[in-house]
Amino acid sequence: MEEKIRIAIQKSGRLSEDSLKLIKECGIQFNNGTGKLKSDSDNFPAEFLFLRDDDIPGYVADGVADIGIVGENVSVETNKPVHTVHKLGFSKCRLSLAVPRTVEYTGLQMFHNKNIATSYPRILSTYLQQEGIEAAIHEISGSVEIAPSIGLADAICDIVSSGSTLMSNGLKEVEVIFRSEAVLISSNTLSAAKQKILDQLLFRIKAVQAAKN
Ligand code: ATP
Ligand code: ZN
Repeated sequence: MEEKIRIAIQKSGRLSEDSLKLIKECGIQFNNGTGKLKSDSDNFPAEFLFLRDDDIPGYVADGVADIGIVGENVSVETNKPVHTVHKLGFSKCRLSLAVPRTVEYTGLQMFHNKNIATSYPRILSTYLQQEGIEAAIHEISGSVEIAPSIGLADAICDIVSSGSTLMSNGLKEVEVIFRSEAVLISSNTLSAAKQKILDQLLFRIKAVQAAKN
């Protein structure tokens, strides 16, 4: 049987549309009917899996998928044995520290012995360690931005794109700790045949990117 590469893509969310668009611009056709979890390409040796973005690094690490498209924020936070093969330039966002608007911000030292709520405990603790700040990290999985107003934390660390969510929760962005964009990830254990298919895919992706610049 002919080898195929399995590509994991976010099923629905901020990465989905641009991921599908990139695949299409690479000339790879497949049918992604609504609700489908899996789809074969009929003109490229690839099979697509549609998953929640948080699950993609784990599936790639376990070999369920060979490669995947996720935000660098998710791939770094999960700490699975995957690596970035190529940066894709879309879904750009930043991970930032934010404090209540009424707080006068005087610098990072302010976070000493404070409680910070976040869904990114690993990236945050690495950053705080580098900066020599000791703070308590409260991991929460969603609606991080309401934590200060309900008394759960003094500050938050969350994804920011426009800042309007922060503003409507009475918060202001004070430090950017990580910049992210969509990346193509892979495990370290691809067969030679799959590596060859990945190289072909990368060649096409780079051509698409070069045409845009
Ligand atoms: P899922 O249901 O698959 O778990 P999700 O709600 O966790 O989805 P999305 O909100 O769709 O995730 O975000 C997916 C990724 O898109 C994020 O991990 C981040 O890399 C990027 N992203 C998040 N917010 C923005 C934004 N406002 N603008 C651009 N990219 C963003
Ligand atoms: Zn998610």
